[in-house]
Amino acid sequence: MLIKCPKCQVTYELADDVVPQNGLKMRCHSCGEVFKAYPEDAIKEPLSEKEKKLNVLKIFERFSQTTDDSFTPETSEPPMVPAKVRIVHLTHYKNTINYLLILLLLLIMLALLYLMRFDIVRYIPKTEALYQKFGIESIYDGSNLQFMNIKTEEFVDQNISKIRITGVIDNPSSYQMKVLPVRVFVYDEDGRKLLEATKSLPQTRTFPNYKLPFEIIVVNPTPKQKNIHITFADTL
Ligand SMILES: [Zn+2]
Repeated sequence: MLIKCPKCQVTYELADDVVPQNGLKMRCHSCGEVFKAYPEDAIKEPLSEKEKKLNVLKIFERFSQTTDDSFTPETSEPPMVPAKVRIVHLTHYKNTINYLLILLLLLIMLALLYLMRFDIVRYIPKTEALYQKFGIESIYDGSNLQFMNIKTEEFVDQNISKIRITGVIDNPSSYQMKVLPVRVFVYDEDGRKLLEATKSLPQTRTFPNYKLPFEIIVVNPTPKQKNIHITFADTL
């Protein structure tokens, strides 16, 4: 049965047969109140969430002041069956709070591992494989890398007219970056699109503060004057 301390409302669970008709003298573990518990004092309804929280708080206050964590029934007067008296809620909630704290710490650690993934991989490159296992991108996608020193040259290779595009991809940041496939557009002098091609470079990564040289060869669409525009493809 559940017996409430009349002073502080902390609730104890007692075996039904330890509380006789003429009452069991008890000392509240939480506030020290000495009172008599009668079978008719038993609470029928389950504890509300608010009461449970209140109990936990009170019991924790008590724990911070003493190392005695066992409930001691008053021994001066019979009947007494101390072995059958237990503070169910006390140990139960104490464990629950410990688990919640551990869970909270784990969640904070996971959040940090996620939020700092770019920096973690930057300093410990091997951790990238670990992030990949969980499908988490830990390297910047490099769509903001800059093309520099672009040169184009038309040439004929095995009777096919081609355009060679060379230049460097500049990574001014201090992070390793993914090199996305490069998309090439060739327009005629009136702005009509003659060709669109997506080319993957042999390098899929570029280093921090590094200018990656590249070369792309596309088929030369027509012998007309052309404007060539290059960009990174959005998707791999
Ligand atoms: Zn009490």
